[in-house]
Amino acid sequence: MITRRVTRTIRLGRVPVGGESPVAVQSMTNTDTRDVAATAAQINALAAAGCDIVRVAVPDMAAARAITAIRDAITVPLIADIHFDARLAMAAMEHGAEGIRINPGNLGGEEKVARVVAAARHHRVPIRVGVNSGSIEKDLLAAHGYPTPENTTALLESALRNVRLIERHGYQELKISLKSSDVLTTIAGYRRLSRATDYPLHLGVTEAGGLIAGTVKSSVALGILLAEGIGDTLRISLTRDPLEEVRVAFELLRALRIRERGPELISCPTCGRTRIDLFGLAEQVEKLVQAMETPLKVAVMGCVVNGPGEARQADIGIAGGNGVGIIFKKGEIWKKVAEEELLPLFTAELKKMEEEGRKNRKSAKR
Ligand code: SF4
Repeated sequence: MITRRVTRTIRLGRVPVGGESPVAVQSMTNTDTRDVAATAAQINALAAAGCDIVRVAVPDMAAARAITAIRDAITVPLIADIHFDARLAMAAMEHGAEGIRINPGNLGGEEKVARVVAAARHHRVPIRVGVNSGSIEKDLLAAHGYPTPENTTALLESALRNVRLIERHGYQELKISLKSSDVLTTIAGYRRLSRATDYPLHLGVTEAGGLIAGTVKSSVALGILLAEGIGDTLRISLTRDPLEEVRVAFELLRALRIRERGPELISCPTCGRTRIDLFGLAEQVEKLVQAMETPLKVAVMGCVVNGPGEARQADIGIAGGNGVGIIFKKGEIWKKVAEEELLPLFTAELKKMEEEGRKNRKSAKR
């Protein structure tokens, strides 16, 4: 059982972050923000996959202005990611951004920070103070050295300095991220940060890599922190379609029993007993369950002899043999069918269970 660290609650539009709110999943678009249709379509796809909050890059005024039309076409809160230019931060808020991500230290001086903070207060927009190993101020690097797992002082001091800068202007609607591309430095840095402040923390490993390396690095770093109760919102950064980031995020949260969304897929690794194309079957079932929301355990197993027993915990499962297949529920055979009928029958039954789950959730809400 994980005990969450106590943090303050802030609100990004309708989504609370911190306190007792669920750990929020974030992602970032990779479309040109000025292309409203493409950006809104990607945000809506992310939202359909369960993403709670989406960030967009705002590199120029046209991108800041596009936020109004994007907001009209989406339902999740939108965060504007700003580097260096205070005017862009203010324009993004004027055009409806529900959050901004800045590194106050690179906005061009305290007077500009003060203007951004005043605008954030006016629009009631929380600020994420985002520092990473590559953006640490020179004086902190000279005093404390480049961050390592044994020495994260420069990273921590950079985050706290930027937080204090905003606090000096009377604003506390903040969350903080402190990222490194190194897993152990990320873990050490966030541990210290969580002891130093009660602002909500946004977790992430920066430049984590492609699907496999990025998933492993993010899952190790964020998994350890989340298991220690640290982290109120997160992004899994992958050099991939952002939809994959959301899927990995939910698998990570599910593995730690922090949050569940949709079915959990269990599949065997195959062995010499496998007589069907299990990889293809597992891929088709994976696609099927991605659109579902009921938290079922779904198994795809390679043989009819051991499959049902090995996946006894599954609510429903499928196992293929030599020309025949079975569908089982909680380890018991439910139907035995010819191999070509296996997937259609399984799909129909799974959809029925999803529909029942949807009805149950609806009546539980009433
Ligand atoms: S379920 Fe069957 S095919 Fe899959 S690993 Fe176990 S024994 Fe092998």
